Amino acid sequence: YDDRDGKIWMDGQFVDWRSAKVHVLTHAMHYASSVFEGERAYNGKIFKSREHSERLHFSANALDFSLPYSVDEIEAAKAAVLKENGLTDAYVRAFAWRGAGSDMGVASKNNPVRVAIAAWEWGNYYGDAKMKGAKLDIAKWKRPSPETIPSHAKAAGLYMICTMSKHAAEAKGCSDAMMFDYRGYVAEATGANIFFVKDGEVHTPKPDCFLNGLTRQTVIGMLKERGITVHERHIMPEELEGFEQCWLTGTAAEVTPVGQIGDYTFEVGALTRDISDSYEKLVRL
Ligand code: PMP
Repeated sequence: YDDRDGKIWMDGQFVDWRSAKVHVLTHAMHYASSVFEGERAYNGKIFKSREHSERLHFSANALDFSLPYSVDEIEAAKAAVLKENGLTDAYVRAFAWRGAGSDMGVASKNNPVRVAIAAWEWGNYYGDAKMKGAKLDIAKWKRPSPETIPSHAKAAGLYMICTMSKHAAEAKGCSDAMMFDYRGYVAEATGANIFFVKDGEVHTPKPDCFLNGLTRQTVIGMLKERGITVHERHIMPEELEGFEQCWLTGTAAEVTPVGQIGDYTFEVGALTRDISDSYEKLVRL
């Protein structure tokens, strides 16, 4: 991703894509003091743009730093990035981190907080899984307790176990991994939330130790509009066997049907198709 044409917004200015660099003694690179957003623009408009900008601020505050740009300034910058790069349908990555400066230890009060925004075209996150259902591995790593890490923030440090879990899954021919939490309950995938269907009702893990995704919240709203009961609750591993349908939600994943998790199989049923197709329409309204 480093060698291409285009412009990246860095600390209030556009820089050439290939020159968007930081110093190796950047605090974030050593201590994970970094937060980010993943957003998608459809027809030139970022879906839930403001909510994403607000979440970027929330995540930074959770890591004990503040962004030097207001939500309105981030909103304007994201729009400018799309325009500058001539993009209408794109993935937008806004991020902030503790930079390099006079501190080079765990503490970093004197280093500047840096902000950057990049955007690029990005198709389906799970390739053709939209049609036949993604195959998921079961991760060996567990999502940590909110007393261990600020688990509601979209912070880089939370993704260390996600990258390892995803690599292990790909080595087994799966496209992602489902993770349990520190108590053993079903949590989510490495970059998307998870839903199950049984007897016409929907069950999804209670987001008490992982990101309560914006797509997750949107999909719960869509289900409730249809009069479908949604149970947000703790889900035990042994329940996986009884679920009929399963899908993932996320900005990148959108609504992706799941066909298999470990040895458990699911059908890509009518409700999964309806929610997946309706989400695609909703984001383009
Ligand atoms: N969980 C994790 C770990 C994620 O990285 C994401 C993607 N941001 C999600 C859930 C889904 O969040 P959203 O729907 O807001 O993109």
